Amino acid sequence: MFRLADAPYRCLVPLAFALASGPVFCQTVAPPVALPSVPSAVPSTEPALRVFDPSLIDKTVDPCENFYRFSCNGWFKRNPLPADQASYGRFTELSELNRLHLKQILEEEAAPVTTRSANEQKIGDEYASCMDTATVNKLGIAPLKPELDRIAALKTPGGLPALLAHLHAIGVSAFFGMESNQDYADSSSIISFYGAGGLGLPERDYYTRTDAKSVEQRQQYVAHVHRIFVLAGEPDAQAAKDAETVLAIETRLAKASLTITEQRDPQNLNHPTDVISFSKELTHFSLADYVAAAHAPAAGKANDMEPKFFAEFNALVADTPIDQIKTYLRWHLLHAFAGTSLPESFDQETWNFYAHTLNGAEKQQERWKRCTTRVDHELGEALGEVYVSRYFPPAEKQRTLEMTLAIEQAMDKDIDALDWMSAATKVKAKEKLHTVMNKIGYPDKWRDYSKLEIVRGDALGNQVRAHEFDVARDLNKIGKPVDRGEWQMTPPTVNAYYDPQMNNVNFPAGYLQPPFFSGQEDDAANYGDMGSTIGHELTHGFDDEGRQFDKDGNLKNWWTQNDEQKFTERTDCMVKQYDAIEAVPGVHLNGKLTLGENLADLGGLWLAWLAWLDKAEAAHVDMTAATGGYTPDQRFWIAYAQQWCTQTRPEHLRTQAQGDPHAPDEYRTNTVLQDLPEFARSFSCRKAAAMVNPKPCRVW
Ligand SMILES: [Zn+2]
Repeated sequence: MFRLADAPYRCLVPLAFALASGPVFCQTVAPPVALPSVPSAVPSTEPALRVFDPSLIDKTVDPCENFYRFSCNGWFKRNPLPADQASYGRFTELSELNRLHLKQILEEEAAPVTTRSANEQKIGDEYASCMDTATVNKLGIAPLKPELDRIAALKTPGGLPALLAHLHAIGVSAFFGMESNQDYADSSSIISFYGAGGLGLPERDYYTRTDAKSVEQRQQYVAHVHRIFVLAGEPDAQAAKDAETVLAIETRLAKASLTITEQRDPQNLNHPTDVISFSKELTHFSLADYVAAAHAPAAGKANDMEPKFFAEFNALVADTPIDQIKTYLRWHLLHAFAGTSLPESFDQETWNFYAHTLNGAEKQQERWKRCTTRVDHELGEALGEVYVSRYFPPAEKQRTLEMTLAIEQAMDKDIDALDWMSAATKVKAKEKLHTVMNKIGYPDKWRDYSKLEIVRGDALGNQVRAHEFDVARDLNKIGKPVDRGEWQMTPPTVNAYYDPQMNNVNFPAGYLQPPFFSGQEDDAANYGDMGSTIGHELTHGFDDEGRQFDKDGNLKNWWTQNDEQKFTERTDCMVKQYDAIEAVPGVHLNGKLTLGENLADLGGLWLAWLAWLDKAEAAHVDMTAATGGYTPDQRFWIAYAQQWCTQTRPEHLRTQAQGDPHAPDEYRTNTVLQDLPEFARSFSCRKAAAMVNPKPCRVW
């Protein structure tokens, strides 16, 4: 599903940018490797994933010197980084298990039986079409011919709006994006959002950085675009020239776009207008023709998220030869379909640049993994409904809800205890907290796919129709009442998110299981692990970005000026702290880019700790009794750290440090714990120990 890159909601773990060929949003750094000795079905004995696992601890490491290594070295030894992964951690470990479950469902539904429901036919036939490489290879580029012909038929800039609306509908991310979203000023109203886009590299700074590595990456990108054009049948010299044209156009768009750090401030993305007024700004591009072709409203409120970008786009349409625009569109068309819908040569070339060159993966994922991911993206709630019925017992929902309520209660008490916030702002903060909606597992009402046609043997056509269906569904929301039950993640997803405009926290079923939560474990382990995630999502409502939205999801300041200043003084401490971390030689973390996630990590763990202490007291837990060699409070911290055990390739670490709003997992463990004296007390750390920050940062 297409989302503007700067949509303001926050998830727990990184996006899979650059690893897939199509637009992906807010997944874990996905597709993990097959578990050892798993042939083609779900193994009869699944690996025992534990929330607190003493066998992973490395006792040769001093917990006060490097708690991450102390907690995770055993896991690292047991889990060498798989060749098809850019990074592999506990989230990928569980995603992999979930994917085996999805595979079993899909293989059953793909088998030719007559008793399938309409949704089962769709997921089964889409999986079978994706797996059918013989047909995909045999058809070659022919299924894309009608779309290539449309682009070839463009004669004047006047024809661009209607063509672009069609390309956007089928999932081609050229120039900009248009989608529905809640009005920043009035969250009860759905309006059209116009956002910057149109880049083939992960984000705008890839086009502007001047260091040697970045220059090299741009050359590698041009070589990749060149090879894709050749695969599509262009003569070599023409393809080389066309690839340079693509880079030139994208560089121009990139320079007019906001940086990813600037995009984190919703004020930078809020430029209310209406469709008619906006159309007058675009003097060389008929917005009326575009919205007519997109079947979007011809009038009404709109948000021009990046005016500078759209001014440059307007100028670009006027002064760029039409053949160059066609070249650019042809590239984005090929790019959008170069995964599992086109012959393996395209697929391999796309993997080589995005997963291998940019992120260091050594081997392409097996086809079934990518096809499973594809069905999850295209028909996520049809697949998710079957998944939930088999793998998500109703009791899990209740347990998660109870823990969420306990963490919310802890936050209520924490707000009372803050010494830097005024009574007036505390009232507003509590109002917001008490309005948060808790969504757990899966939607109450499943998405209706009856209008989506899936044809067995037509992988490319299915991809086109799935996008058209999704874009139509999205644009159809404009002007209608807000559906607060809607989900932005599919049920099997191993992730979680907070949505500031909905003011809700969301925990998909796929995440609510070991190694993050288990009914077999005690509260110390479960609160340290999943409790900290619940606290993380809740804290996003009060991070540097989320705090700008009120209890109803409106972008409206509810802080006194004095409190705002005190908040910023405290967050500046964290910006400096993370700016100082050199993740790979020469590349530091970006303290401002990662501030929201770092705040959520620290605040979330603190809330989980408070909630657990209350729970332990009420249950008269003996705080000195050791289990597996560790006291309850020590197990709380170890369970927190063990969720972040992750192996990462240096190439991917670089990509992550430059563009991911989440700090790498080592710092999500050690840097967060260094700010909590309660942690140091549990392990009796000396003041001079590495795991003790003498001047800890603290906000919530
Ligand atoms: Zn987050």
